[in-house]
Amino acid sequence: MMMVLIIAIAANLKVQPVQETIPQPIIRLFLHQSGQVIELEIEKYVAGVVAAEMPASFELEALKAQAVCARTYACKKILDRKPYPLNANLSDDINCCQAYVSWEGFQELHPARYEELKEKIQSAVSATRGELISYKDLPIDALYHSTCGGYTESAAAAWGSDIPYLQSVKCNYCSESDYYESTQVISLGMLQDKLTGNDSAHIEISQKSDSGRARELRVNDQLISAGSFRQLFNLPSTNWELKKESKELIINSRGYGHGVGLCQYGANGMAQQGKGYRQILSHYYKNIRLEKLNY
Ligand SMILES: [Zn+2]
Repeated sequence: MMMVLIIAIAANLKVQPVQETIPQPIIRLFLHQSGQVIELEIEKYVAGVVAAEMPASFELEALKAQAVCARTYACKKILDRKPYPLNANLSDDINCCQAYVSWEGFQELHPARYEELKEKIQSAVSATRGELISYKDLPIDALYHSTCGGYTESAAAAWGSDIPYLQSVKCNYCSESDYYESTQVISLGMLQDKLTGNDSAHIEISQKSDSGRARELRVNDQLISAGSFRQLFNLPSTNWELKKESKELIINSRGYGHGVGLCQYGANGMAQQGKGYRQILSHYYKNIRLEKLNY
């Protein structure tokens, strides 16, 4: 309940006694393409994030889990007080924050089923109104990704800092994703071009994390982090099996995204098996609680 007060303070709201209704927090969102800031109620923001971040064709319980993640993520950003342009709480740039789409933008993307999908997203958001994931009375860093490919990644393995609720967990639920397993082919010529000064005679994964993702590659005598290699060749994840042929490097990849936190396709798979959004969230985030802001 401490959290209710902290968020109320952070959003410049009058501090209310515990359990009482607070005004709905307002988000100042920086739109990175237009360079403008818009102000909107957090529940409207959450709907726009769900619309942008998860296929609306997903199961309702998966959309609810996504809504709770989006809201939690936003509340943490409010508290973190990071300086986004024009004094915004958050940006819609996926390189630092969550994607967001307005209803007008969503309609352009889904002209035929707009009303139906909008209603579905709105019902997922309103069914979880005010709900957040907390750890030690604070909103968690509710990270998520498209497809883990079998095991999620721990924050410690991905970024070197252990976060108790972001551990590696087994996921049997994301095999319907096109990216559960995928293959990329890189010509050895391109490999040489991008890894300057290297004739790439030899390439191997030199270090893996417990979840099976590569952490580091060795190209001849040069070491390169898996994250840099992924970026350089636009690969879906860092979970690879490499096979070198005469003129090509064949990469069998598992999953899509950094692999930390909630697996979105996994959330949909769990929902298809009848699991509710609370069970889904508890599977991907360890030792968390769900709290509800009363607004
Ligand atoms: Zn998964």
